[in-house]
Amino acid sequence: MIFEFLFMTDTISIPRRLLDEIIAHCKETYPNEACGLLAGRMDTVERVYKITNIRQSKIDYEMDPKGQLRCEKEIKSIGLKVIGIYHSHPSTQSYPSQTDIMRAYWPGEPDMPIYPDIGYMIIGPVDGDIKVRVFKINSGQKVDEINLNKI
Ligand SMILES: [Zn+2]
Repeated sequence: MIFEFLFMTDTISIPRRLLDEIIAHCKETYPNEACGLLAGRMDTVERVYKITNIRQSKIDYEMDPKGQLRCEKEIKSIGLKVIGIYHSHPSTQSYPSQTDIMRAYWPGEPDMPIYPDIGYMIIGPVDGDIKVRVFKINSGQKVDEINLNKI
């Protein structure tokens, strides 16, 4: 796996202009889900990378593996780390779906989150009163909301 693990506090900070970029991306791909990577240092997002959702789905996403790899290489080359993954919920609340939770673990291993240290940012409902929330998905299918600090 290319993701590096890092210690993360229970807060992610993001500049408002980057949050606006993410929300604009979610509106662009509506009615399908948008997805991408959040790169930064410690717990602060410094760059946003939009990635194509190869599922082109209203209820699911999968990042284009080539796009993801290209972005991860760039993130590493500029000395940042992947600190989060974002995706939109076009018509549902910004809370991880069963699919989101299931995909956060190695197949058949509910105690082994693939990326235990990153934040899962969810933006939804895109067609309603949009809320942006961030979660950590821990072992034992434990989902914890973490604080999103808009700076
Ligand atoms: Zn989802």
